[in-house]
Amino acid sequence: MEMNNINRRDFVKMMGAAGAATTGAILLPFEAYAGANGHVVVVGGGTGGATCANYLTRWAPNAKVTLIEKDSKYSTCFFSNEVIMGMATMDSITYGYDGLKKRGVNVVHDTVTGIDTGGKKVITGSGSISYDILVLSPGITFDHSTVDGSSDAVAEQMPHAWKAGPQTSLLAKQIAGMRQGGLLIIAPPENPFRCPPGPYERAALALAHFKEHNPTAQVVILDAKEKHSKQGAFREGWTRVYGGEATAEGNFEGPNLKWIKGSNGGKVVEVDGATNTVITEDGEEHKGDVVNYIPKQVAGAICKDAGLVNATGWCDVDLDFKSKVCDIVFVIGDASVASPMPKSGHSASSQAKNVAATIAAQMAGEEAPPWTGSNTCYSFISEKYGISVVAIYAVKDGKRVKVKGAGGVAFKGKSLRHHAKEAKYARGWYKGITSDMFG
Ligand SMILES: Cc1cc2nc3c(=O)[nH]c(=O)nc-3n(C[C@H](O)[C@H](O)[C@H](O)COP(=O)(O)OP(=O)(O)OC[C@H]3O[C@@H](n4cnc5c(N)ncnc54)[C@H](O)[C@@H]3O)c2cc1C
Repeated sequence: MEMNNINRRDFVKMMGAAGAATTGAILLPFEAYAGANGHVVVVGGGTGGATCANYLTRWAPNAKVTLIEKDSKYSTCFFSNEVIMGMATMDSITYGYDGLKKRGVNVVHDTVTGIDTGGKKVITGSGSISYDILVLSPGITFDHSTVDGSSDAVAEQMPHAWKAGPQTSLLAKQIAGMRQGGLLIIAPPENPFRCPPGPYERAALALAHFKEHNPTAQVVILDAKEKHSKQGAFREGWTRVYGGEATAEGNFEGPNLKWIKGSNGGKVVEVDGATNTVITEDGEEHKGDVVNYIPKQVAGAICKDAGLVNATGWCDVDLDFKSKVCDIVFVIGDASVASPMPKSGHSASSQAKNVAATIAAQMAGEEAPPWTGSNTCYSFISEKYGISVVAIYAVKDGKRVKVKGAGGVAFKGKSLRHHAKEAKYARGWYKGITSDMFG
């Protein structure tokens, strides 16, 4: 099929599928929605928001696009585990907004403190901004209500490093300074949470770091869950690169790594930052030299303030990612309930492009292209080896579903040469997703 024979609908559909391999920039081979006029305000200049603003400038070139982001720089969570383990620098994962400004996005650095959906305006620290269509991609906030002692202040002793930035640097500093033979505790929360494979990649890269710098150090994952994302792939990777195996009780145990499932004493119910101790449901006290306690999460605070969250703290959305509470507000990224899509950067990027196309079509009075989504999630087992999971999503019988037979988990029985290639693909994926965000 030649490019000039592809219509807009087919192209968007195709790019949804292509996004499974890379989120590389979509170039416009066709006329954009020239009739799309109006003011779109996007709140949150992270993965979902920056990508959406960027693509709106391509697909709705005559619309005004304002991006409101509280910080002047954004550090990606993806690849931040490498920074924490001393394998990359903060600079290599940190971006400014000049690229988006050059593309014509009106970037406003301010905090949105309220949303007036009736009056179609957002309230910011310095005034208010009116919109015709609003997109929210504010990411996550922490919910400290289920673990005693949990608070934002505790993160200064026990860094979660689950929002990249100063927390990433703090955990990196603690890991680099850990005493020889010390103990790193990683305590991931219950589902759902941002980046389900993230804690297990972090453990793998910690093993890689310690192998070189602190060979007798131990890593213990105290998990709130009974099983975790990409469990088979991680276990195979951990075993092949660092040794160890599943135990009869359903834990994992290696020379320098233990993973303890929730019902076996893994579930953390109390934390004490002053003594670097976490207490599990069975009453056991675990004192770490470094404790990476990752609290439970809910949608970014502005969603709750605007009355857009459900009883579990996340935003219900329809098949177009319009809020089920207010249909002139789109919610994308981690804040939305996009099941079966996981809360990942790739999901947020895929949703952002679909929503940009939907908004452009809607403003031009045309039919929106059909929805397709994708997620590719790479994780490092070491700096050299990677694993991945790929899924394609579509709408079937009025529901968002995973397309059967498309995607899969790349690990079982594959050679280390294959996993070395996966690590290279991961670096290519990173270039693609960040160029989609920042131009
Ligand atoms: C350790 C780790 C590793 C990860 N690795 C991967 C990976 O390999 N692949 C992958 O696909 N995903 C990965 N992720 C997940 C990915 O980072 C998130 O899913 C993604 O960033 C979600 O995008 P978002 O737009 O919803 O939120 P974010 O990217 O967090 O963006 C939200 C933005 O909104 C801004 N904001 C919030 N509230 C306001 C307000 N009131 N006013 C103004 N601005 C506001 C914030 O400052 C922020 O910039 C990882 C996450 C972690 C923690």
